[in-house]
Amino acid sequence: MVQHIQKAAVIGSGVMGSGIAAHLANIGIPSVLLDIVPENAENRNQLSESAIEKLFKQKPAPLSSKKNAALITPGNLEDHADLLGEADWIIEVVVERLDVKKTIFDLVDTHRKKGSIASSNTSGISIHAMKEGRSDDFQKHFLGTHFFNPPRYLKLLEIIPTSATDPAVTAYMKSFGENLLGKGVVLAKDTPNFIANRIGTYSLLKTMQVMKEMDLSPGEVDSVTGPLIGRPKSATFRTLDVVGLDTFIHVAKNVYDQTEGEEQAVFDIPDTLAQMKDKGWIGAKAGQGFFKKD
Ligand code: NAD
Repeated sequence: MVQHIQKAAVIGSGVMGSGIAAHLANIGIPSVLLDIVPENAENRNQLSESAIEKLFKQKPAPLSSKKNAALITPGNLEDHADLLGEADWIIEVVVERLDVKKTIFDLVDTHRKKGSIASSNTSGISIHAMKEGRSDDFQKHFLGTHFFNPPRYLKLLEIIPTSATDPAVTAYMKSFGENLLGKGVVLAKDTPNFIANRIGTYSLLKTMQVMKEMDLSPGEVDSVTGPLIGRPKSATFRTLDVVGLDTFIHVAKNVYDQTEGEEQAVFDIPDTLAQMKDKGWIGAKAGQGFFKKD
């Protein structure tokens, strides 16, 4: 196993990937931030570069100092996969789909250096399913590291080892999470959506059912589930806008597919969410979700 994480690679430069790279930069750890080459791109690093630019505009600020952005090197997976070989920790933060994540880990298993740690930031897809069929060294060094949004500010970090993860790797990542990243680490079992999202997704979808029954608006729900009861401004639907409706739909479907009966019925995606996604109203990253971005 690596002695210390000194260099990282973050794969996926969306909401979470860019935030995780920023949080690493805040503690002095350089990373490469890799994404796919967009179709018809003139600039092949466009997605990662624009993700870094967006970090300067976000509130609350993901970077503790603007200068820290210099520790994040943008790139694309197609041209720069060899950079994965320089990282002590590679974290996958791409779209919440097992097929896509598996393709990423094919690449990671090919390019990573022996002993480097590999992890997924999935919100709840099976970590075991991602490691199947890979090299022994990969499996020993692979686990789930589930950050919450925004990564600089939310304290929870769920760590999900598999049956093949070396206990020393789990212990190292727990200590790294607590002592360097400043997180409260919870070790979770590899069950659908782990712990916090199993509860959180259920709660949000149940809230939507009640909202419909009581004919409430998202603003009305947020007003009684936010600051008035001691929760932050973001409350229910503002939080969903920050998460992204597209991501949330994948996360809810993951549990829907693995439950049955009454519990499963709650995880059924309401038509409102599906319609909003079809219109492109997927939350803050698109400028419009339940609310227009401030
Ligand atoms: P996002 O939609 O903001 O970003 C996803 C990124 O994946 C995009 O930059 C996209 O270009 C990239 N991508 C898509 N297909 C790819 C491919 N084939 N190869 C490489 N990259 C590809 O999503 P996000 O919200 O950052 O979520 C990323 C992961 O983090 C998901 O697994 C999600 O469940 C998890 N997560 C999200 C949140 C949240 O609040 N949004 C919180 C915790 C965990």
